[in-house]
Amino acid sequence: MTDATPLPAGTLAELRHALLERRATLRERLREEAAELDLVRGARADAADDEHDPEGSTLSSDWSRIAGLRDATRSRLTAVDRALERIDGAAYGRCLRCGGQIAVDRLEARPEAEHCIDCARAMS
Ligand SMILES: [Zn+2]
Repeated sequence: MTDATPLPAGTLAELRHALLERRATLRERLREEAAELDLVRGARADAADDEHDPEGSTLSSDWSRIAGLRDATRSRLTAVDRALERIDGAAYGRCLRCGGQIAVDRLEARPEAEHCIDCARAMS
């Protein structure tokens, strides 16, 4: 893949806007998930006083579920941040694996995409 057609400025501006919106949404979600984890942590501390509290296992699974969501949100946010760092340079919109141009419709669906569809499939 040697296609080096740069993205049109208008498309880039739209993708940048989409990334900024995503970053704001993901940051907000991260705050909510952190607050939920705090609540569960507090409830677990209370439940720990009674080892046989039946709520204990529910709280553990709540914790795992929310922590999993938070980790996923955090890694998406990192990808969005990385995309925003790349977007001013020529590297944005290029596949990190093969160097080819990532299809515009893929970027529109997922502006933080780091790989073209072929590489994404090959890696999954
Ligand atoms: Zn690729």
